[in-house]
Amino acid sequence: MRDESLSNALLEQGIYRINPVPEASDISIRILKLTPGSSTERHNHTEVEFWTVISGTVRVYLDGKDIILQAGDSIRVEPLCRHRIEALQENAVMQTVWWHHREIFERLTTEDALLSPNSARPLLIVPAMLTPNGGMHLGHAAGPFMVADVLTRTARMSGRETYQVQGTHGHLEHIQIAAVNAGTDYYSLAETNTRRLKHSLRLLGVEQDIFLETRPTTRSDAIVYEVLEKLMADGLIVERTHNVPYDPETLQFCVDAFVHGECPYCGGESSGTECEGCGALVLDAELINPVNLRGAPLEHRPLKRLFLRLNALENELERFAASTSLPAFAKLFVESWLSRGLPEVCLTNPNSAGVPVHIAGLENLKFTVPMEYVPRHLLAIEQMCALQGETRLWYEITGDELPELAILFGVDNAFGRLLVIPAVLAALGMREFMPAYVIPNQMMLLEGQKFSTSRNHAIWVDEYVTAENAEALRFYLCRNRTHRNEVDFHRSEFERFNMEFWSGQLPAMLDAVNGVFKPFVENKNLPGPGQWCADCHSFFAATSLFIATIKQSYSLYMPDIRKITRNVETFVDEITTFCLDSALQQKPAFTHSALNRTRARLAARALISLATALNPITPEFTQGLYEKFDIQNPSFALFSIDWMSAEIINPVGNI
Ligand SMILES: [Zn+2]
Repeated sequence: MRDESLSNALLEQGIYRINPVPEASDISIRILKLTPGSSTERHNHTEVEFWTVISGTVRVYLDGKDIILQAGDSIRVEPLCRHRIEALQENAVMQTVWWHHREIFERLTTEDALLSPNSARPLLIVPAMLTPNGGMHLGHAAGPFMVADVLTRTARMSGRETYQVQGTHGHLEHIQIAAVNAGTDYYSLAETNTRRLKHSLRLLGVEQDIFLETRPTTRSDAIVYEVLEKLMADGLIVERTHNVPYDPETLQFCVDAFVHGECPYCGGESSGTECEGCGALVLDAELINPVNLRGAPLEHRPLKRLFLRLNALENELERFAASTSLPAFAKLFVESWLSRGLPEVCLTNPNSAGVPVHIAGLENLKFTVPMEYVPRHLLAIEQMCALQGETRLWYEITGDELPELAILFGVDNAFGRLLVIPAVLAALGMREFMPAYVIPNQMMLLEGQKFSTSRNHAIWVDEYVTAENAEALRFYLCRNRTHRNEVDFHRSEFERFNMEFWSGQLPAMLDAVNGVFKPFVENKNLPGPGQWCADCHSFFAATSLFIATIKQSYSLYMPDIRKITRNVETFVDEITTFCLDSALQQKPAFTHSALNRTRARLAARALISLATALNPITPEFTQGLYEKFDIQNPSFALFSIDWMSAEIINPVGNI
């Protein structure tokens, strides 16, 4: 192709495009000439795409990596991979061909591919932080904290190097309020409650690798300043003076948790932090009819503070919202804020505790929680490196060396998780660490009403959870996960579930399976399968279907533990029915040894698959099952073993 025809082609943002074949055909071909420095928009699609560079040099950005291609080089871009091409110093000419390739697309979206995406990078799982102003109630546990543990175990089962972070908020005035009420100081109260929260996590079987404490360290303070300096250098921080609620009696500003009023966004009751009703980060100065903790109306006085110019990072958030791996809630949340306009985020306040602000004119202020969000994640990265045996600072770790980030949070914490954290990470040039897996949850109700610490309408983990009911509760909370909708927790319903399923049907199923292994009591290993009947075929297919459903439901992009537990319940019933076949039980004279061999194999396959499905949720229960089969280091690879021919230790009498 001669250069004139290219220069006559459509020019848009420095790129000439020519389509030598009509667009309507099944395969699309396009020649691009990119002028120096020009770049295509980042996008993705279901089609597979094939690029060949004809002349010049381009930089190709694919999900998580960039590659330089020169004349003669070519590359295949997989379906759904986000991509962008940029010409370097000179004109670049390239050919792109794209077409819908059903097999390639389906291979990418099967359960195996979903289980373990990008497995080369470590995974950091970070639920929203706990507030150490009290204990942990079941509503907290059922939200991000216990599920972070389930996902950690899930990721490890699929072979990912995974680190689970738990921790308490750095500084929130809720802690100060509780400290004043308890007649103690901020950090003593935080530390007492942190011990209580850690104990609650242990009771629930949560085993975090990193715990971020409230009390600051030299390093945690330093990270706040390192981040602030970078944001300031990029012009993302501004000083603003607002008329802020002021208490004429105490002669103090009322900010953060010390002020209440009507949320300017949803009209609900909100403090000067995150609105529980709509998840917005509410600026104290914008609260309608603000009152103090005693309900007394407040005056307003001017106060100079630092703000993050979130709107300057709009493009980054637009790109984040365009990611295919976000759940619908997160996409809509980010997009709705982008369309209504991003507010500036208050970074300093006259709080009682916090990292002090060493900036002239702002000496009486402390950094707010939004200023701590990203630094605490960076601290977690440094602690992850320490666990790997390396001492590294967050800014020394770049690109593919950064872990992938999975975040879990209740929808009332959405503003910080979906806007502030991704925007600040982008501003720091850490796009690879922007949340790759976003797992929000709706709220759990208790007996029809919101959990409330102040009204003591709550079930406290450290009062309710015991070694006996912990795993049943983990299962039950997963089963009633507030995945997309609010869920109502009733004590009596859990107790009935514990009695009927966990302590009833489940052990009854194990008894039934034992009956199938019994004919081979003399054998060390289960014999190979013999004859098959229609029941065997049907049960084999049911088990395969169960495995496929479980793999699909454990996708890190959209883990559906609610669906997993419900499928487990159905499958327990199927195993029991298969093993308790009354024709074979009641008429031992008809016992057919060749058929029994097949049945024992099928029962073993079902039981190992059930354990593998349950392992992230109830690890203690499944550990017991694996031991009977002498299975070490369980992983999702157990789903793929051909249990009809593999060696299986006969667990008879052991289960
Ligand atoms: Zn609101």
